[in-house]
Amino acid sequence: VDPAVNTSTIAAIVTSLGGPAAAVGIIRLSGPSAVPIVGCVFRPKVNKKKRNASEWRPKSHVIEYGVVSDSQGNVIDEVLVVPMLAPKSYTREDVVELQCHGTEVCLQRVLRACLEAGARLAEPGEFTLRAFLNGRLDLSQAENVEKLISAKSVAAADAALAGIEGGFSSLVKSLRTQCMELLTEIEARLDFDDEMPPLDLNLIMDKIYRMLHDLDNALETANYDKLLQSGLQIAIIGRPNVGKSSLLNAWSKTDRAIVTNIAGTTRDVVEASVSVRGVPVTLLDTAGIRETDDVVEKIVKVLGECSCHPMMVPDYGTSALYFLNPINDTVSLSLFRVERSEAVAKNADVVIMTTSAAEGWTLEDTKLLERIQRNQTASGCSSPLILVINKIDCAPSDSYEWVNTCGFSFNKHIPTCAVNGRGIQELEAAIIEIMGLNTIPVGGRRWTVNQRQCEQLIRTKKAFVRLKSSIQEDMPFDFWTIDLREAALALGQISGEDISEEILSNIFELTKDEL
Ligand code: GDP
Ligand code: ZN
Repeated sequence: VDPAVNTSTIAAIVTSLGGPAAAVGIIRLSGPSAVPIVGCVFRPKVNKKKRNASEWRPKSHVIEYGVVSDSQGNVIDEVLVVPMLAPKSYTREDVVELQCHGTEVCLQRVLRACLEAGARLAEPGEFTLRAFLNGRLDLSQAENVEKLISAKSVAAADAALAGIEGGFSSLVKSLRTQCMELLTEIEARLDFDDEMPPLDLNLIMDKIYRMLHDLDNALETANYDKLLQSGLQIAIIGRPNVGKSSLLNAWSKTDRAIVTNIAGTTRDVVEASVSVRGVPVTLLDTAGIRETDDVVEKIVKVLGECSCHPMMVPDYGTSALYFLNPINDTVSLSLFRVERSEAVAKNADVVIMTTSAAEGWTLEDTKLLERIQRNQTASGCSSPLILVINKIDCAPSDSYEWVNTCGFSFNKHIPTCAVNGRGIQELEAAIIEIMGLNTIPVGGRRWTVNQRQCEQLIRTKKAFVRLKSSIQEDMPFDFWTIDLREAALALGQISGEDISEEILSNIFELTKDEL
């Protein structure tokens, strides 16, 4: 990619729009004409005497106060201008930022004035693309900028920041350098074998093992990265009245990092969000499903059993959602499909089967779990299953032999008391263990690799594994160099040193001619 290609000056509103108006919004310009373009529209307030465009000579990193005018000379906003001249800027080009009033009207007018004065509207991600093309960030750092902007949790933001700080970039760089050095050494022996000292194979093998170790460490973060981006869905299932809603409430209350708490009154599923090791976890309280004969009886039963949340009652093909409003004792009803609640369990990352210690395992529990597992099998997914034995305070004893005789196998069984929160910590610990979150360091920033980087790391690893066996099997040097070159290429795709325009435009979501 030719860095000299950016002769245009781009401009965009870089603060968010669409929400409630903010006090301040920012327009950023980057490119060789950023200063003259701003000079056309901006007039500093300190200096009353009329100037023309070419005269605006900003001092880098010194804020100026003034007004922006449109092409007819009408003042359209009062602004602070922040000039950041090349190379001391985000893109390493001349950058000028205009701090305008934050309403969409002001921002759009000032932006239009800049465009009329010669700037081109920037594509999403284009400032970061230029930062990459001009060597300010490598590709993996640039990807972390996007990750930081879209981070939905503190942990995701921390991981992105660690990536921008460059820990992963320097690892990749160092691995690539080692590949190149090794390649040079071997290639020299391809050409002048008899004049060179023999290769120290032990040293080379050591190096390869160390690099494989680094690769494995990096690859380990991929799973966490996925979890940070998409979070975990945990379905709490069980027959009515075992304490599913109480469990959800107890859990989301004990957790200090609650992100949202949406109590769906028109849905068949109640959600709460908690955070487990920084991973956003959505708890889905699926309303119990019970099969009885008489619809009227069903409604009475359900309302009697559980008025704390919407309840699903299967009837003739459709189901009803009944919600008792405790303020005025009215019942609201809506219809929806019977499968919804089970579909939630089908797609969940973890299923928590809730039972009551007071009653032990019942036929109804068997029926419910059979149906859930049949659904999962049919859709080809099987998520870990945790058995929660709730209401341990009501149990005659604390031995639950039926866990082993109920005919199902669980990844873990956890005794809880949802009314006082006992067992919630253990439940969280079980999830941490089952989902492999215990490899994540608590606190402290640690970068993570995204899907694209992960693929290239796997490619690198495969090349090293082949290289290792080529050395062990005493294969000709040509075999070694093929794999070393492959590894260096894959690493270069991560840093961006070896990357096609096509991949680049995918990453920055640009069309080809914008590069
Ligand atoms: P759900 O139908 O499965 O959602 O059950 P709920 O959460 O609505 O609970 C049903 C009833 O059991 C409520 O009266 C709860 O207060 C009670 N309950 C829930 N968990 C416990 C528990 O651990 N011990 C005791 N004693 N009662 C509980
Ligand atoms: Zn409930």
